[in-house]
Order: sequence, then structure tokens, then C-alpha cells
Amino acid sequence: MKYAILIGLFALLVSFTGTPYKKIALQPFDGFDKALLDTVKLTIKDVYGYQVVVMEDIALPRQAFINVKFPRYRADSLIRFLRDKDYGSMDYVMGLTPMELSHTKKDAGGHVKKPAMKYIDWGVHGLGYCPGTSSVASTAKIESDEPSVFISRLKKICIHEFGHNLGLPHCPTDKCVMQDSAEKMSTIDDAELRLCNDCKDKLASIKQSP
Ligand SMILES: [Zn+2]
Ligand SMILES: [Zn+2]
Repeated sequence: MKYAILIGLFALLVSFTGTPYKKIALQPFDGFDKALLDTVKLTIKDVYGYQVVVMEDIALPRQAFINVKFPRYRADSLIRFLRDKDYGSMDYVMGLTPMELSHTKKDAGGHVKKPAMKYIDWGVHGLGYCPGTSSVASTAKIESDEPSVFISRLKKICIHEFGHNLGLPHCPTDKCVMQDSAEKMSTIDDAELRLCNDCKDKLASIKQSP
């Protein structure tokens, strides 16, 4: 009888979360404010229902450093580094850093967006493979006089980048957290901390496909 109840509970858990036992590692890089880790952890758990495990700090990999316009770290290099690092039984990893990030912005055809000088090393708040297993988010350039605004921006960036990992592309729905920020902080500030119904439907179908 006990087993029957346990199996029932397990089935219930699977039906709620879609995929059982999916785990995401939060990887703080040196200098990331530890006081923010719990907030990020709970936010991902709330929105996606995944288990979140906080890792020990590590140094930013030297090869990701770049100084084209400003000294900063290449987000594409960081997500590659995190993807290739061994996280054991973890399914996903999200890096968190206080340093500025950049990557090369491309147009629909896959070429560097024009003007190339502007977009070859373009500042970003975060980046995630779509789909994939790694992402990164930065607390640089999202500061505000209002601590709650800063926290809210960080949460939305993390939810957005992890959404990409799960296969969600940018969403045209107004205020959806998966909207393209379109190079404006106001898009992030106006977004709600949740997926719109279209994104939820899309996510449900992604989770069901083998
Ligand atoms: Zn995005
Ligand atoms: Zn959406």
C-alpha cells in the first residue's frame, strides 16, 4: 500500500513538472553577490519548477576576457565554457557574474549586424543556448537606485535566458519575459516575471516531445 501511494505521488510529481529530476546548477563566478543566489534559485524554481543547486564560486575563465570597446567577458565564450564543464548529474547550468558581458550581434542571415563596429562586441545582460544546457547572466549595468528594480531585472534576465535553454525563442507578446529586450532596459522593466500563455503552451509541447 505504501508503495502504491509512493508511486502515485511520483506520477503526480511527474505530471506537474513534465520531466522528473531536472536539475539546474547555479554557478557563481568570483565576485558575484552571494546574497542574490537564493533569490535567483527561488525564482527559477517558482517559474519552471526545476530543482536548483548552488555551486561553489569559480574564477571567470581567462579566455573569455576581451577588450575591444571596454574590458568585459564574452558571453558566448562563457556559455561554451559552462556547457563543456562537468556538472555531474545536473541537466543545466547558469553562470552568474558581476562583470560586463558582450557577444557579437548577428542579423537574420547570420552576418554581423550593421554597423559591424557597433555590434561586433555588443554589451548584453545575459545569453543562453536555444535550446541548450548553459546560460549566463550579469548584474553589471542593471543597477538602480531602487534595490527592488535591480532584483527584478536580475530575475527576469535569469528567467529569460533559462527559457532559451528550454527551447523558447523570443516572444512577440507584450510584457512576456521572453520578449527581445530590443536593446532597451525599459523592455526588461515593463516585462512581467512570467511566461505568457503562448510561451507556456510552447514549453508544454517541448517537454512532451521526446
Ligand atoms: Zn533572448
Ligand atoms: Zn511569451
